[in-house]
Amino acid sequence: MESPNASDRVSMPPRTLWAVITPRSNALESLHGERRCDVAIIGGGFMGLSAALDLAEASVDVVLVEAAEIGWGASGRNNGLVVPGLKRDPHEVQRLLGDERADRLLRLSGDAPQRLFDLIDRLGIDCDLNRRGWIQAAHARSALPLIDKRLRAWQALGADVALIPEDDVPGRLGTDYYFGAWYDPRGGSLNPLAYARGLAEAARDAGADIHERSPALNIDRDALKWRVTTSSGVLIADAVLCCTNAYNHAIPEMRGAVIPLRTAQVASAPLAEAHARTILPRGESASDTQRLLTSFRLTADNRLIMGGASATAGDGNARLLKHLHRAAQRRFPDLDSLSWQYGWSGYLALTQDHLPRIFNVADGFHAGIGCNGRGIAMATVVGVELARIVRGVQDCDVPVHKVRRVFGFSLRHPGVAATVFFKRTLDSMERRLSRRPGTT
Ligand SMILES: Cc1cc2nc3c(=O)[nH]c(=O)nc-3n(C[C@H](O)[C@H](O)[C@H](O)COP(=O)(O)OP(=O)(O)OC[C@H]3O[C@@H](n4cnc5c(N)ncnc54)[C@H](O)[C@@H]3O)c2cc1C
Repeated sequence: MESPNASDRVSMPPRTLWAVITPRSNALESLHGERRCDVAIIGGGFMGLSAALDLAEASVDVVLVEAAEIGWGASGRNNGLVVPGLKRDPHEVQRLLGDERADRLLRLSGDAPQRLFDLIDRLGIDCDLNRRGWIQAAHARSALPLIDKRLRAWQALGADVALIPEDDVPGRLGTDYYFGAWYDPRGGSLNPLAYARGLAEAARDAGADIHERSPALNIDRDALKWRVTTSSGVLIADAVLCCTNAYNHAIPEMRGAVIPLRTAQVASAPLAEAHARTILPRGESASDTQRLLTSFRLTADNRLIMGGASATAGDGNARLLKHLHRAAQRRFPDLDSLSWQYGWSGYLALTQDHLPRIFNVADGFHAGIGCNGRGIAMATVVGVELARIVRGVQDCDVPVHKVRRVFGFSLRHPGVAATVFFKRTLDSMERRLSRRPGTT
C-alpha cells in the first residue's frame, strides 16, 4: 500500500489537482530532540488537525506529527464533497446502536456540515467553499424506493431535504443518466487541501506545534507518560491521539483496525462556459446510489471532477482512471472532447459496520477512525470529540470501543476484490433492468 514511509524516506505528495492549485506556505520543520507536551497527535489530516485546533484553543500544550505533509492522506486527495449523514441509513444506525446512541450519532453527522461551514467562516479559511447542497441520484429504478425511504428518515429527524420532481432531474444534474434524485441543502463542496492547510495554519496560530516529515515509529508507555518516537525526535505526553485513518499500518496498535479501500478521482481542464452551465447548474455537488458510487461536481474554475471506482490495493491507477473517464462519458456524452488533466487515488477507511468510531486503545491513548468516505465534515467533528475525551468528557457522540482487528483482515485483498466485483455486477444488472431505450 502506498504509504507515508515509516523510515527517513518520506513519500512524495500525490499530483492531485488540489496540490497544483493550492498555495502552500513553507514546509514545517521535522520534530527534533525530545519535546514534552500534554497531548501528542499522530496524523495531519482533518481529524488530527481539528483535534489539535480544539485543544490549542483550550490552552492545552499539543504537538502534532505528520509523516509526510499536511493533507498527504485522504484529506488532500478527496473529491471535496461535503455530504451530510453517514454511509448507513438512519434506520440501520438505529438497529446497530439502539435509539439513544443512534440519535446522537445521526444528529452529529447531520449537523457536521454546518459545523464545518461555521468553522471555516470563523477561521476565514479560503478553500472555495460552496454550500449549495448535495444531490443523491438513483442509478436504477430499483433505487427509487431506497431514496424515498432515506429522504423520509432524514425528514423525520428534522432535516429540510426534498425529492426532486422526476421531470426536473435531468436539468438539475445536467444528465439524463439517472432515474430520480433527492436534494439535501446541508451539503456542499470545497477544495479539501486548502481546507486542511488552513486548519493547520489556524491550529498553529492557536498555539499547536505541528511537524511535517516526522513519522511516528513507535508508541510506548514510559512510567506515567506516553512516548512517541519519530524518525528524528521523541514526544513525551500525557495523552496520545492517533488520527492516521486508513494509512495506519506503521502503528502496530491500529494495524488491521479498518479495511483500507482505494478510490480514485479525475479532474478535467476547465469546461467552456456553455458546457459548465449545463452540469449541476445550481452549483450542488452530486453522487449516486450505486454500491460503488460515482460522484461528480464542478470546481470554482469549472473543472469536472469525477470520483469513485473503488478497487483493491493491487489495482493500478491507470485502470481506475479509465473507469472514471468512461463513467463521465456515459453521464455527459456531449462532452466528447473533454481533456482530463489530473488523475489520482487514495485510501479511505472502511469499518465493518460502516460507522465511524473512536478506539480506546489504552488508558490515555485514543484513535478516531472510519468515516467510510464521508470524512470532510465527519473527521472534523470526530477530531473535536477526541479533544473532548482528552479534556475529560466521558460521554461521547461517537461510539467508543476497544480496538479490534477487522475479522478476516489478512484476506482483505481477495475479499475487497470479490466484493468490488460483486457490487459492480449488481449495480450494472440493476441498471440494465431499468434501462431506457437508447441509453447505456
Ligand atoms: C479518493 C478519496 C475521495 C474521497 N472523497 C470524499 C468526499 O468527497 N467527501 C468526503 O466527505 N470524504 C471523502 N473521502 C474521505 C475523506 O477524505 C476522509 O474520511 C478524511 O480525509 C479522513 O481524514 P483523517 O484525518 O482521518 O485521515 P487522513 O487524511 O488520511 O490523514 C491521516 C494522516 O496520517 C498520516 N500518518 C500515517 N501514519 C503516520 C505515522 N506513523 N506518523 C505520522 N503521521 C502518520 C498520513 O500521512 C496522513 O496524512 C474521500 C477519500 C478518498 C481517499
